[in-house]
Amino acid sequence: MIALLTDDCTLRQKADLVALIERERLRVHVDRVDGREIIGVVGKDPERIRSAVAVMPGVLEVRRVPQSYALASREYHSASSVVRVGAARLGGEAPVVIAGPCAVESREQITETARVVAGAGARVLRGGAFKPRTSPYSFQGLGERGLELLAEAGHLAGLPTVTEVMAEGDVELVASYADMLQVGARNMQNFHLLRAVGGQSKPVLLKRGMMATIEELLLAAEYVLDAGNPQVVLCERGIRSFERATRNTLDIAAIPLLKQRSHLPVVADPSHAAGLRSLVAPLSHACLAAGADGLAIEVHPRPEEALSDGPQSLLPAQFAALMEALTPLRR
Ligand code: PEP
Ligand code: MN
Repeated sequence: MIALLTDDCTLRQKADLVALIERERLRVHVDRVDGREIIGVVGKDPERIRSAVAVMPGVLEVRRVPQSYALASREYHSASSVVRVGAARLGGEAPVVIAGPCAVESREQITETARVVAGAGARVLRGGAFKPRTSPYSFQGLGERGLELLAEAGHLAGLPTVTEVMAEGDVELVASYADMLQVGARNMQNFHLLRAVGGQSKPVLLKRGMMATIEELLLAAEYVLDAGNPQVVLCERGIRSFERATRNTLDIAAIPLLKQRSHLPVVADPSHAAGLRSLVAPLSHACLAAGADGLAIEVHPRPEEALSDGPQSLLPAQFAALMEALTPLRR
């Protein structure tokens, strides 16, 4: 529920309103929507205090937010949100391409990749330092050393960076190196981690769980927003279906649907969706055509040597050709 305040609402009136809401064990989010100051009321069934709020002095109008994810919903914020990562603006005028290797493997690998993706027009550098791997025997990432190398490569190439944080206890460490924190598909419903990334000030890239519904993804975003961080970008990265020919099944419909239901920017990851290099270009076109605010694409200078996700990683020349081919859509 949203209470729109009158232009002349006094501090005293606001304080009384907040006190009324908090007495009912609901939470308050003070915000500006369409140029007007509002009080967002969230928690269990805010509608029960609707009439009490509506008659409070200083309240112009009360609006219902029908969704369970109030703060993430379009009803809450009709205008699309823009999330800034360095100089990149996700949800702004033009789609933003995030690119880089699956994992940071060495100084040479990440600096070389950063240079080529920046040259081809990527605006954010990706690369995992903490890798969520299905097998405990697979490469787990370089940890803090990987964070250092990623930050250094981003700095040299002039790109802000995004990297995954897997554990609540690592949030502070990862946030001290990266410009954006990624919550991976496997952690989309790690509620402690969601609250922890919501409690710090770097933007968050929230990937859809491979078995998560659209509503579950939006409720995961709601955790981050409710914890106080408004800078959330949603990422469709394919869901698990009966089909085994591709790694996952890219849910194209999720892109426009998320944008209809939420004001948050939506990017798509065709690399993890497909699992196959040859599908990354056609899926990238499809995602932008469906209205994605950006793409996350894996690129490796020598995919055959990659320690993770080599088969889905583009070669630098393939990435450059794709960026060129996407130009009309990116405009
Ligand atoms: C990744 O982007 O590095 C990754 C592990 O992706 P996902 O969480 O979508 O599987
Ligand atoms: Mn990967």
